[in-house]
Amino acid sequence: MRAEPDATLTSIEILPVKCPQCGEAQNTLDEGTDPLSRDAAVGCMVCNYVFSADEYRRLLAERQREFEGLHIGDL
Ligand SMILES: [Zn+2]
Repeated sequence: MRAEPDATLTSIEILPVKCPQCGEAQNTLDEGTDPLSRDAAVGCMVCNYVFSADEYRRLLAERQREFEGLHIGDL
């Protein structure tokens, strides 16, 4: 694992999660922050909702399952 702060955002694939408040999937993230760290501040670009760390992880897992389902395509 490399730990160069400047490479954080480009080295991590971020799937935007859907906002429970407005339903848009446009997230904001403090520059250089790992979205999976406990103190990450992931927010909604549209309504400024702020995801809790646990909530973000849960929504991200759901999102990843959706994408994997699309790749498999025969469920
Ligand atoms: Zn929102």
